[in-house]
This record gives sequence, C-alpha cells and structure tokens, in this order.
Amino acid sequence: MTKESVICPSCGSNAVSRHEKNSFGQLTLGHQFSYKAVSFKCKTCNEEGDFLGISDQNYMDAQKDAQTTFAKNILENMSSVGITMAMFERVFELPTRTLTRWKNGDFSAGALALLRIIATYPWIVEVAEHKFERSYASFVVIKAAANELHEQRKNPTLHYYERQTSYEAPIPVFSNKNVRIGA
Ligand SMILES: [Zn+2]
Repeated sequence: MTKESVICPSCGSNAVSRHEKNSFGQLTLGHQFSYKAVSFKCKTCNEEGDFLGISDQNYMDAQKDAQTTFAKNILENMSSVGITMAMFERVFELPTRTLTRWKNGDFSAGALALLRIIATYPWIVEVAEHKFERSYASFVVIKAAANELHEQRKNPTLHYYERQTSYEAPIPVFSNKNVRIGA
C-alpha cells in the first residue's frame, strides 16, 4: 500500500488512519455497481471523513462504467424490437454516428435519459418517426396499451422481474418483443 501523507483538515495532524470498504450504488434501470469507499480518521482529534474526496471519485468512476454498460446494452438490444441505429438517429434528428459515440461511452446525462425512455417505451420511436404529430401519437399510445393488455392477459407473470443484483446479470430491456416498432 502506498503511504500518502494525509493531513487532518480539522487540526492539521498527520496521524491519520485510512479505512476502506466496498460500497454499492444502483443505476436507474441498470446494474448495481460497487466502488471502494475510503474514509480517514484523525488519531489526534478524532475527526473522521473522506478528507481527499476519494470515495466521491470512485463512486463517479463506477457509476460511469455502469452507465456505459447500460447504454451499450440498450443500443445493442434495440434491433430486437425493430429499431435500427440509423432510424434512431434520423427520427430524433441526431448527427450520424451519435449512437456509435454513445456506445463507446461518450454520452451526456440527456442521452442517458433518452435511452431510459426508449427502453421503457420503445414505441416513442414510432411517434418520433411521425414528427410527434398529435393524432398519430394518440394512435400509437392506444395501440401500445392494447398490446400490453393482450400480453398481460396471455402471460400475467411476463412483466414481473426480480431486481437484478448481480454484476453479470443481464438487464431486462425491451421485455415485450412482440411489439415491433412500425409494425
Ligand atoms: Zn485532527
């Protein structure tokens, strides 16, 4: 272990001990992720805390990894419901290769928000394809609701998922493969 010289922000003493433990965060719609939480304790005045902000950085790094996996997963599964990357970029008027950038981890919080919406309501792509025209949007919502209802009746357990806790476990995206976009 490297010995870093940590100074207590409260009393200036360098008699500071370091403690580490594994902590977990949960990505919305995505994986649970683990990160190393680091705290320091001053042996002189008993002040405790993450004096160097290491935990925050570790959390951000682990969260970013989980977000990248999430974005990749959504993008790779879109074709299973009939959404191609080219179509996605066209209907949302995104520059070409935007999704390739996202897939490689170069995405914004706004991009993540859009992907969460698509994963939950894939038919929104069909609405976008029709320029968000109001009467068409109503038609798509009703069609999607009818499909959902039909699926629920056929197989009531289809839409219930245990919370994923494993790093390796796949994220259940686009659960209803029977609803094809543009069908
Ligand atoms: Zn101190």
